[in-house]
Amino acid sequence: MTALDLLDLDPSLSEEERQIRDVVRQLVDERVRPHVAEWYEEGRVPARELAREFGKLGLLGMHLTGYGCAGASAVAYGLACQELEAGDSGLRSLVSVQGSLAMYAIWRYGSEEQKQRWLPAMAIGEAIGCFGLTEPDHGSDPASMTTRARRDGDDWVLTGAKMWITNAPIADVAVVWARTDEGVRGFAVPMDTSGVTAREIGRKMSLRASVTGEIVLDDVRLPADAQLPEAVGLKAPLSCLTEARYGIVWGSLGAARDCLETALAYATSRTQFGRPLAGFQLTQAKLADMAVELVKGQLLALHLGRLADDGRLRPEQVSVGKLNNVREALAIARQCRTILGANGVSGEYPVMRHANNLESVLTYEGTSEIHQLVVGQRLTGLSAFA
Ligand SMILES: Cc1cc2nc3c(=O)[nH]c(=O)nc-3n(C[C@H](O)[C@H](O)[C@H](O)COP(=O)(O)OP(=O)(O)OC[C@H]3O[C@@H](n4cnc5c(N)ncnc54)[C@H](O)[C@@H]3O)c2cc1C
Repeated sequence: MTALDLLDLDPSLSEEERQIRDVVRQLVDERVRPHVAEWYEEGRVPARELAREFGKLGLLGMHLTGYGCAGASAVAYGLACQELEAGDSGLRSLVSVQGSLAMYAIWRYGSEEQKQRWLPAMAIGEAIGCFGLTEPDHGSDPASMTTRARRDGDDWVLTGAKMWITNAPIADVAVVWARTDEGVRGFAVPMDTSGVTAREIGRKMSLRASVTGEIVLDDVRLPADAQLPEAVGLKAPLSCLTEARYGIVWGSLGAARDCLETALAYATSRTQFGRPLAGFQLTQAKLADMAVELVKGQLLALHLGRLADDGRLRPEQVSVGKLNNVREALAIARQCRTILGANGVSGEYPVMRHANNLESVLTYEGTSEIHQLVVGQRLTGLSAFA
């Protein structure tokens, strides 16, 4: 491993975990790095093509079992997220939304028929999924959602809008959460159903190598069997978010690591005042502090991963990881940018792209403030949400 593995974490990984990490790293090096700056600049990414390639490697729904999924450990999944996000947060988002949100929701709460219909195709990247929880007027507070599903005979009729939905404009199926007379329920909505439209959200300054959209549901008629039978109440979508947040605990560190590797190489080769930038004490203080935060984050991710593989991981522990690791990753990206000077703002280097991406990662899957409230509730026994 590199000089950044200050604590020799590598030997704490199993042979299989290291192998999976290295295969994903190679894929990112060969397939993503040469193109990602251009995708980002153009705000276009060959998501379907990449999904098929990720599918071939078993990265889609990789921690799920059956239905063509790889059944990998939580730690292996986390390591894959770290490598993907070292390429770009947008690509890790593609994999997270597909596997941890859309596929997990169907795998955990769907009927056997729904699983057979969607999961094998999603695992190989032939079908793309998205997850519609956020609405134009309801983000951090999904309990106030206004998207409605009403019964009409045996059918369901859905009306409303979902906003900021990753993959929506390219998706084949959306897992949509809606209010019914019995509370929140989930639906597997084929995107070609009459009344469903998905508009791409443009002018993003972050996650530009990821497709984001708005879904409008205009009296969308669905058969009874479109409802996810096991999903009862808001705790169902929240459990999906816990899955995806776990991937972010690892993924965000991939972006941070890529920034730090870039800054380290730059500081070693760039000379000012007759010596490399890396030779100045102030630069070394920055590098040391960042490397310490990186390994602390990796230790935290590994610990949470081992808890997950033991079946003992609790949602507030994932909040600890998401809160800390994204916050520190963003701080690392910003600090690395200073080391690159003017080149730090250039798309020739990945640092500003990662920093911009991490702004979205800080906000989605629960903002930092929401995770502070989750941890605060655990500490005090008092909910500050309502
Ligand atoms: C690129 C991108 C992709 C996304 N993909 C998806 C997706 O695939 N599916 C999906 O469903 N959603 C997705 N989201 C939406 C994301 O989950 C929401 O943006 C997020 O939950 C925050 O909601 P909001 O933007 O409405 O902010 P708001 O909820 O309006 O919050 C605004 C600010 O107020 C703070 N705040 C809110 N409530 C409190 C409180 N009680 N106490 C203190 N502070 C508070 C927040 O922390 C934040 O700082 C995506 C977002 C982005 C940017």
